[in-house]
Amino acid sequence: MTVVRDVPKQLFIGGGWQDAESGRTLSVDNPATGEELCQVADASPADGRHAVEAAVTAQAAWAATPPRVRSEILRRAYDLIIARTEDLALLMTLEMGKPLAEARAEVAYGAEFFRWFSEEAVRIDGGLTTAPDGRNRLLVTRQPVGPCLLITPWNFPLAMGTRKIGPALAAGCTIVLKPAPQTPLTSLALAAILKEAGLPDGVLNVIVTTDAAGVVEPLLRGGKIRKLSFTGSTQVGRILLAQCADTVIRTSMELGGNAPLIVFDDADLDVAVEGTMVAKMRNMGESCCAANRIYVHTSVADEFATRLATRMAALKVGDGTEPGTDVGPLIDNAGRSKAHDLVRDAVKRGATVLTGAELPEGPGCFYPPTVLTGIAPDSAIIDTEIFGPVAAIRTFDTEDEAVTAANDTEFGLAAYLFTQKLDRALRVAERLESGMIGLNTGLVSNPAAPFGGVKQSGLGREGGRVGIDEFLEYKYIAVPVGA
Ligand code: NAP
Repeated sequence: MTVVRDVPKQLFIGGGWQDAESGRTLSVDNPATGEELCQVADASPADGRHAVEAAVTAQAAWAATPPRVRSEILRRAYDLIIARTEDLALLMTLEMGKPLAEARAEVAYGAEFFRWFSEEAVRIDGGLTTAPDGRNRLLVTRQPVGPCLLITPWNFPLAMGTRKIGPALAAGCTIVLKPAPQTPLTSLALAAILKEAGLPDGVLNVIVTTDAAGVVEPLLRGGKIRKLSFTGSTQVGRILLAQCADTVIRTSMELGGNAPLIVFDDADLDVAVEGTMVAKMRNMGESCCAANRIYVHTSVADEFATRLATRMAALKVGDGTEPGTDVGPLIDNAGRSKAHDLVRDAVKRGATVLTGAELPEGPGCFYPPTVLTGIAPDSAIIDTEIFGPVAAIRTFDTEDEAVTAANDTEFGLAAYLFTQKLDRALRVAERLESGMIGLNTGLVSNPAAPFGGVKQSGLGREGGRVGIDEFLEYKYIAVPVGA
């Protein structure tokens, strides 16, 4: 494949491409076929150290680079990404599995973080106020936090990177990016685009590794990284928070979800089914915002479930590069087994299968769109992030019951509610313990919105007006001016 051949396969350090010091490489595979796409340099702790040194060396000059210049590099990179939509989309489909239409949508979404933060780079504000005593002036300015370590997962290979790189560069921070080893090609292609857009050497460094723990921990303990921005599971987030505590590194944590989706008896069922399809099936269900627990009012539950199952059964499962594919493979066999085990556990405890639930034969990590009803309260699917195309439906009778069930989780990323009553919509939205609410919609992601979770779904926000704050420090200068 030309798109794979054209991507650099080495580590990107100090503006140059280089092999891992050990000479080791890792295999990048296509989850639709199980075949290897290519080999990529596999970084060791020494490579990680070199990447941080390059970021540290570049930090002062990048912080001093005029905001307009930083902004225009991001804007040029945005234009280049959009111009190369087809290549980047195909690359993501090949290494991650999502259908081409979804990959194209991710290119548009991911690129938008560069355009948005190119606009924010020139709007970093400060202030001058008079202290209450009248004798002092308080001059407040904002400075980049310093070299950042950005760690991203595989499920949105482009957008998870640009959502962090955009604000970090806009703020004047240098970067070491560690993408997931399943999907490094998109990040390496992105690094090449930023270099082409004029990003100075060392401002962005990319290390790919199969030894995440061994490479990252010494970097966090080394005293040079000033900020960790992590997207991934809550389990790994806890480990990294503990490591950052020792050297008091600032953190942003975009962690796991267990999103409830509530359909009230007054909901427009067409809207609710459509919204559920998006909330459940975007990215094959491999999204931190995916509807994990679906609660439907008893009076409309049968009709909702039947309609949803009809829509799910009609989806075409297949290789994401083939025209007409709606649902690609899951990322790997472990992901597929996890989804299937959750389904089997629910069925063992009494759930009814309306569609799906059969493991297909043949190569590739495919799993059929599945709808389950009558989920018993002790089923593992209720407390576990499914990360697959499985809709688990339960019923409720009162608003209180729905809200209590929705909040009964350690997570708090996204939640969805479907109702036509404005008072109920606002009341329930305020009571739901989550950072983001989809009201009569299954899509909450938007580069202009503050994305993030409460409880154990994370700390901080990405995107929106506040996204850049995560990469800036306040500095206050006391200025006595006399009586
Ligand atoms: P993961 O296992 O936590 O891995 C995420 C990243 O962390 C990968 O690059 C991984 O590399 C790295 N990593 C793992 N252990 C590490 C360690 N000890 N030290 C340093 N880095 C380490 O998560 P995943 O399975 O890739 O992604 C799925 C999870 O991400 C889900 O829970 C999902 O909800 C969450 N997610 C959250 C958001 C959000 O915005 N809140 C967005 C997308 C995904 P290796 O693969 O090599 O271990």
